[in-house]
Amino acid sequence: MKRTNYIIANWKMNGTEKSVSLVKSIQKHILKKRKNSAKIVICPPFTALGGLIQKSKKIIKFGAQDVHHEHAGAFTGSISALMLNQLGVKFVIIGHSERRQYQKESIKELSKKINSALSKNLKVIFCIGETLDEIKKRSSILKKQLTSLPSKFTGNNIIIAYEPVWAIGTGKTPTIKEINSIHKSIRRMISNKIGKEASKVSILYGGSVNQNNSEDILNLSDVDGALVGGASLKSKDFCKIIDSSN
Ligand code: PEP
Repeated sequence: MKRTNYIIANWKMNGTEKSVSLVKSIQKHILKKRKNSAKIVICPPFTALGGLIQKSKKIIKFGAQDVHHEHAGAFTGSISALMLNQLGVKFVIIGHSERRQYQKESIKELSKKINSALSKNLKVIFCIGETLDEIKKRSSILKKQLTSLPSKFTGNNIIIAYEPVWAIGTGKTPTIKEINSIHKSIRRMISNKIGKEASKVSILYGGSVNQNNSEDILNLSDVDGALVGGASLKSKDFCKIIDSSN
């Protein structure tokens, strides 16, 4: 089954509208290549989204790093799916481990966010992953996290990013063999929910992907791209990761 490949940049709390030069050099690189099988998505902070969307070509799509579950109301400091949609945002990261940890986002809360994003046609990049303490019970942790997903979803509206928390920003990754087998088991888990459609859902790997390990990771049969943090902030490194996805 041919699935869409994605290389997604998570800038976290880095970058402003002035980061347009970073976007432009990535854009130039993609345009120079004749063939680019992976879709490139950049997720800057909210404040940079509008400006960067306006100044970029359509080959790069933009995503937000979070969304509130309501569309409007008395929620100081929050941004809704309706607002993102009106800004031209196409994707949203939901359930990143940093938000689960620091904002204490619960399974139930994430479920509401996913439903809200889907109702405004945002493609959800849903992050799951175990902490170091949870490695031995990884399977049950991932299964539980996946319960935030609605009972029906498709490969068109949900992307799953498997990000072991202990691999994020640490330079450590599971072995290549482990990554592939975990991705296979995630697909089995979602097929219990959505049946055959599971074969169409892209499952990305995230956690210390860089220009040196990307080729091995991205060529795995069950890995459909990468969610990249640190290495997405340097054009040269990110472009190398993009190149290794073909
Ligand atoms: C992330 O935060 O989603 C991530 C994968 O970070 P890094 O690539 O820096 O490990």
